[in-house]
Amino acid sequence: MSECIFCKIVSGEIPCAKVYEDDHVLAFLDINPLMPGHTLLIPKKHAETIFDMSPEEAAACGAALPKVASAVFKGMDAEGMNILQNNYEISGQEIFHVHFHLMPRKTGDGFKVPWPAK
Ligand code: ADP
Repeated sequence: MSECIFCKIVSGEIPCAKVYEDDHVLAFLDINPLMPGHTLLIPKKHAETIFDMSPEEAAACGAALPKVASAVFKGMDAEGMNILQNNYEISGQEIFHVHFHLMPRKTGDGFKVPWPAK
């Protein structure tokens, strides 16, 4: 039995607010959102970091990302979007199952990125 929290979400052992699902990926709302609509997209097959992903799983995430990002963008009436993916502790990774943060942006949301932005 996997101890990985995201594997437990994939199996249904832990509930989630599902945004999108296909055979290879799952997207759900972040439980501790940095802004409204903050969504996580994960491969269903466990991989700790992006370096551990098979080409097939990576391709499935790549195919789903624009679809899910568009849906979140439109659904949240966003003005922009940050997509972030961290690997290893030094980058901020705490859950060792690959995940992409889809973060819809709006003027005045107060979210700070570490490079110049409006
Ligand atoms: P990162 O690796 O991207 O820096 P973390 O590994 O710290 O981020 O955490 C991944 C994200 O997963 C966090 O934003 C956290 O709020 C979210 N998260 C943790 N548990 C759950 C859950 N049960 N359902 C939804 N989101 C979760």
